[in-house]
Amino acid sequence: MDLIAQVQGKLDALAAQSLTRRRRSADSPCAPRQVVDGRPMLAFCSNDYLGLAAHPAVVAALREGAELYGAGSGASHLVSGHSRAHALLEERLAAFEAPHLFDAKALYFCTGYMANLATLTALGADADAMIFSEALNHASLIDGARLAKAGVTVYPHGDVAALEAKLAASTASSKIVVTDSVFSMDGVFAPLPELLAACERHGAWLVVDDAHGFGVLGRHGRGALEHFDLRSPNLVYVGTLGKAAGVGGAFVAAHRAVIELLVQRARPYIYTTAAPPALAHALLASLDIIAGEEGLRRRAHLSALIARLDEALRLVRWQRPFSPTAIQPIVIGANDEALRVAASLHEQGLWVPAIRPPTVAPGTARLRVTLCAAHTEQDVAQLAAALNQLEMERPSA
Ligand SMILES: *Cc1c(COP(=O)(O)O)cnc(C)c1O
Repeated sequence: MDLIAQVQGKLDALAAQSLTRRRRSADSPCAPRQVVDGRPMLAFCSNDYLGLAAHPAVVAALREGAELYGAGSGASHLVSGHSRAHALLEERLAAFEAPHLFDAKALYFCTGYMANLATLTALGADADAMIFSEALNHASLIDGARLAKAGVTVYPHGDVAALEAKLAASTASSKIVVTDSVFSMDGVFAPLPELLAACERHGAWLVVDDAHGFGVLGRHGRGALEHFDLRSPNLVYVGTLGKAAGVGGAFVAAHRAVIELLVQRARPYIYTTAAPPALAHALLASLDIIAGEEGLRRRAHLSALIARLDEALRLVRWQRPFSPTAIQPIVIGANDEALRVAASLHEQGLWVPAIRPPTVAPGTARLRVTLCAAHTEQDVAQLAAALNQLEMERPSA
């Protein structure tokens, strides 16, 4: 019983700081109007930015993929689990990102978490290499850097000059700079053009985690590299496919030599069962939408919704960092107030997650509103009205 008591003590400590997380179970597909724990809700929490997770063409392709390839892959990619669907998807993704890379190839992963572990452990495999990691990077990049044999140094958020000083002082055998493109809890951009210029000056890789940009940013939805019009052999691009692409998995696109190194050496690629080929088949349909007319329309609608929210919110006490993306945080501050506000919204049938430390810095607990192309202007107006009202009702403690 001592062992259990020890674990219970840890849980009690979390509860005492209002840090206990709980899961809700969705009874219907991911969409703005969703039945959750048996109750209809209007949701502002998914990363399904284009509304493709339940898109009929993507769902039909998933069904077709299962008919063509079965349910599971049966083995890892290097044994026998690599299917035609995976190969076709990788070709399509490489061609999609090719305008921004040199001699591009792409590699499909089960998750973005694994793609980041793979990239950093493979590029940072030597003890005399150095990973330069942005302070607000996603947990999967932090974990990838920890797992790599390379040394790790963290540079301050958005501070290209500080990074450049570190690069200039470094004698590492290889230098790997890694950053989110859009910071997942703030919605703001990393200064990618300046970061890339610094990397080129110092012979460093720039690994860009575009989890929140792929599919949404850029005229064609190619993501952050298209948005900033970047092209370089130093770029290693990670796009995730469970967010705007609506399905699951992720890919790395880079020079073919980098991709070959990942295939040969990256343990999170090699020692895991390949994702079901049907997912790759479904992703071909979602890429058709992202790259086509419908993708253009969906991205334009999403931009209109972001502008609408901006006009409608009238907040004085809570902070709203400027965000040009679908991630629209409302920083409340204290954990318990953030939780109370999220609970009040929930009572009104509005589902907005409260994000607390350690995901964000202490004292910056927030509501993380995410908009999606499947929302309507009325949905956004309803949320803004509820938030304006709640802010007035609840003076800070
Ligand atoms: C979601 C996310 C990931 C992880 O991707 P998954 O496919 O969900 O594992 C990686 N990086 C960032 C910035 C993310 O937001």
